[in-house]
Amino acid sequence: MKCEEVREMLPAVVGETDSLAVRRHLARCPECRADAARYETLLTTTAKLQTFVAEPPPGLMASLQAIPQARGRFDEVRTHVVRNRKAYAGGAAAMVATGLAGALVWRTRSRRLAHA
Ligand SMILES: [Zn+2]
Repeated sequence: MKCEEVREMLPAVVGETDSLAVRRHLARCPECRADAARYETLLTTTAKLQTFVAEPPPGLMASLQAIPQARGRFDEVRTHVVRNRKAYAGGAAAMVATGLAGALVWRTRSRRLAHA
């Protein structure tokens, strides 16, 4: 089995492969073993991120409700976002982390189904 073939399969098989060919390759290829270790770390880390709950800071809801509904008020919205950038950055980070974890799970599951 070639490195490219093994690395293509790693996200779906890391830590639980039944493939003898993959296991043999990992046993003799330090580069692919290192890749497998990185995937395992990524999976472990993203699993922890899924349980992260971000609480909005007090007053954020009132600030959001105070944003004028009219269009063409971009400056007011921008000022609001700049003033509350920590809250938005935390929320964005949580969304990105959740999205990455979801994408990884989706990709892993779709590959498992494709190989089944
Ligand atoms: Zn290899």
